[in-house]
Amino acid sequence: MRYHSTRGTAPALGFRDVTLAGLASDGGLYVPDAWPHFSRDEIAAFAGLSYVETAVRVMLPFVGEDLSEDELRDLCTRAYGRFAHAAVTPLVQLDERNWLLELFHGPTLAFKDVALQLLGLLFEKFLIGGKTHLTIVGATSGDTGSAAIDAVAGRIGVDIFMLHPKGRVSEVQRRQMTTVLAPNVHNIAIEGSFDDAQALVKAMFNDPAFAGRFQLSAVNSINWARLMAQVVYYFYAAVRLGAPDKPVAFSVPTGNFGDVFAGYVATRMGLPIEQLIVATNVNDILHRALSTGDYSTGTVTPTAAPSMDIQVSSNFERLLFDLAGGSVAEQMHRFEATRAMRLTNAQREGAAGLLVSDRIEPDDMNEAMRWASAEAGQVIDPHTAIGLAAARRSDLDPAVPIVTLATAHPAKFADAVERATGGRPSVPARVGDLHERQERYDVLPATFEAVTGYIAERAHPKP
Ligand SMILES: *Cc1c(COP(=O)(O)O)cnc(C)c1O
Repeated sequence: MRYHSTRGTAPALGFRDVTLAGLASDGGLYVPDAWPHFSRDEIAAFAGLSYVETAVRVMLPFVGEDLSEDELRDLCTRAYGRFAHAAVTPLVQLDERNWLLELFHGPTLAFKDVALQLLGLLFEKFLIGGKTHLTIVGATSGDTGSAAIDAVAGRIGVDIFMLHPKGRVSEVQRRQMTTVLAPNVHNIAIEGSFDDAQALVKAMFNDPAFAGRFQLSAVNSINWARLMAQVVYYFYAAVRLGAPDKPVAFSVPTGNFGDVFAGYVATRMGLPIEQLIVATNVNDILHRALSTGDYSTGTVTPTAAPSMDIQVSSNFERLLFDLAGGSVAEQMHRFEATRAMRLTNAQREGAAGLLVSDRIEPDDMNEAMRWASAEAGQVIDPHTAIGLAAARRSDLDPAVPIVTLATAHPAKFADAVERATGGRPSVPARVGDLHERQERYDVLPATFEAVTGYIAERAHPKP
């Protein structure tokens, strides 16, 4: 399998190189040359397979010659062996139609672990015996940072520099990053928003002088390998609810459009999905784009669902590319210059059958947390609540089950859960004595000079 850039000029690469590079050198994102396809019979045969076996079948066509089936199985067994639930991503039924897909049983309590535990092992596998030292730079609205740090802390050949918006992540999120004291882990609190942090990371990749000195790599969902790992749980859940013979829909709390794009990929691979609901909070650029075609940024409003406080959704470019059937360089350059653009008619019509969107206000988010707790006995986090609120007011045929992706453990956002429900979720034992541990991080202004200067002093240049 080869991969090419959504902007058409970066060189085509294989799976190993795409995984190590993250972003394409022309500022675009890597996508596979063609979508692998499973027949209905092949999908039906997934019934009863373990999570790891499902993962091997779904991901094998993407890894090409860079991993054998046994190597892939070994990596999946190790990555998902660290999850606290034997089913890795279990389904929980809430009422006759609504289900939760619990994606938070990994070490850092959010769905980011599903992809990043695997990505950490892929980095190690692809770097062994080489001379390259990888410099991971990433921006996090909270959950990617802790999951990426957990996945690479202490690994040989990798340094990680993680930027988070100062004061805009929850205390548990911050501590899960800043209490990891391994010498290859560098936490930076940026005086700005997540979008500022993400723009700094993109600028580093696009600066030939800086990017040329270090072997830069990305762990944000701009890295293709992350999305690939997330496609797996759509197959796993849908097959358990009767796919491919029975229809199923998913509601996805969305920020950077990575998780829901993985669902879109599953449909391109043959999985029949009735609908993908893109649930946003008041930071609603995706809701406006999908409902009116207007993709223009506003200012970021901090909310109780900080991992969705995003106005520029990187992975939306992958969808626009797939719907356009060719390079979106011109469209994206226009967007980068003016912070606004319109979807083409072809893009709007292509999205319309499958993707619908909804914007959930804080009151409706809180109401969803109360409903889940009172009516279904499930304590859910604010992000999951946004997905569930959108699912509960969906106008889909009531016979179609809707699976809301439960993207974080409620203990990660205990204050917001307590405000809504009156009960405080306790932190699972696997997280340990987070609140007693020492923290280490540095605060920097949101400028290119400050951040690149900091990294240059600490990273390993190319040999
Ligand atoms: C990252 C995250 C999201 C948003 O996922 P995207 O792939 O960025 O759309 C939603 N909820 C939680 C808890 C997250 O950590």
